[in-house]
Amino acid sequence: MQTITERINQEANELFPQLVAWRRDFHAHPELGFEETRTAGIVAEHLHDLGLEVSTGIGKTGVVAMVEGDEADENAPTLLLRFDMDALPIHEETGLPFASQNPGVMHACGHDGHTAIGMGVARLLVQHRQELKGRVKLIFQPAEEGVGGAAAMIADGVLENPKPAAAFAMHLWSRLPLNQVVVQSGPLWAAADKFELIIHGKGGHGATPHDTIDATLVAAQVVVALQSIVARNVNPTETAVVTVGSLHSGTVGNVISEKAILLGTVRSFNPEVRTLLHERIDAVARGVCQALGATHEFSVPGGCPAVVNSPEGAAVVQQVAEAVVGPEQIAQIAPMMVGEDMAEFLNRAPGCFVLVGAASPETGNFSPHHSPTFDFDERMLPTGVALMTNTAIAWLGDKAG
Ligand SMILES: [Zn+2]
Ligand SMILES: [Zn+2]
Repeated sequence: MQTITERINQEANELFPQLVAWRRDFHAHPELGFEETRTAGIVAEHLHDLGLEVSTGIGKTGVVAMVEGDEADENAPTLLLRFDMDALPIHEETGLPFASQNPGVMHACGHDGHTAIGMGVARLLVQHRQELKGRVKLIFQPAEEGVGGAAAMIADGVLENPKPAAAFAMHLWSRLPLNQVVVQSGPLWAAADKFELIIHGKGGHGATPHDTIDATLVAAQVVVALQSIVARNVNPTETAVVTVGSLHSGTVGNVISEKAILLGTVRSFNPEVRTLLHERIDAVARGVCQALGATHEFSVPGGCPAVVNSPEGAAVVQQVAEAVVGPEQIAQIAPMMVGEDMAEFLNRAPGCFVLVGAASPETGNFSPHHSPTFDFDERMLPTGVALMTNTAIAWLGDKAG
């Protein structure tokens, strides 16, 4: 007799053509963060057709539905599964037949795949209500790409009524072999914070620098000085990155700039290092500006903590993954400096964020995530469905004892 895991695996594989059709439709119609109205509409309709009660507009464009086990009573545990839906402001250059029809917007991170997987998971969970020893809160999140979709959903109460005791999610990864599953406890992806520095000088004629405070010169010194933070303030056994990705100052060559704007990102794992980075960027910028007669404003307009998996959450996924892809397809990796706002959920409901390999064995690695030629091997879609569905059933089963 087939085990429940084997049955789910088989049903996930049978969903393959449907998963591909969903994914390609989302891929052709990508939407930026908090603008996922078409995508959310399709998701909501699908969940509704499955007989689920659906909430829309959670965190602006997010969608939430609950699958209840047949015998779930009031005290039954609740688990959260999260899938992200947003695309990126990138102009697609893949030449795929289902390439983006929205110029300048592209599913270059694979969230089209995640949304399709989430719809497949919803279907299988509904079909297996009798095996579900509790509730699964399915959340389709907007705006993962650095614009605060998870926080917006939390602010709208997605973690209340009922509060999930654990959270799980996955990311397909085009740089890992097809259907390899990365599952590990502890840090996986980094805390990622944006920062903005505005430097105020005093503008003037390019030929009379003594009458001015040159914001461009100050900004250049600030950029260099910021690189001393990781080199000289962070403990060398810790990990951190300070990157200034954008510097704008002045307008024309013969006018000394009065204002410079620096945009950057900082990455870390340890919360103390995260705080240190913010404090030092502010202090270094203040010091350099003071020395050169300028002033500054420092802000952190957005960010998320590190993705840290709980030992219990990782253990459940590990066990499930062994049955879904086989022990030889499970891997561990060194933590990456990529950020992911799934961390907001994991911080409040400990669980596991897992990677599923999506490189093609025939053509090798695809272009990196966030590149205009990004693509992934769709044969990972059923794996994602089987992994998340079985994780929900297994975790609730363990809780029920
Ligand atoms: Zn991304
Ligand atoms: Zn992503």
